[in-house]
Amino acid sequence: MTASQALPSHTPESLRVVWVPGTDRLLGICHCGAQRQAGDPIEVWQWLHGHPVDHDHGEP
Ligand SMILES: [Zn+2]
Repeated sequence: MTASQALPSHTPESLRVVWVPGTDRLLGICHCGAQRQAGDPIEVWQWLHGHPVDHDHGEP
């Protein structure tokens, strides 16, 4: 099969940043399900863009 080619390691569309209701914080969600909260949106995006590099060795 060619599933590996049909599934890119990471795409911008698979990364999400949402506001955490009731707080002034943002929650970044990676395509793999990992999450990180931060008060600064720049910090969240930097983590998201750097995160796939750390865990690209496999999915659970
Ligand atoms: Zn991830």
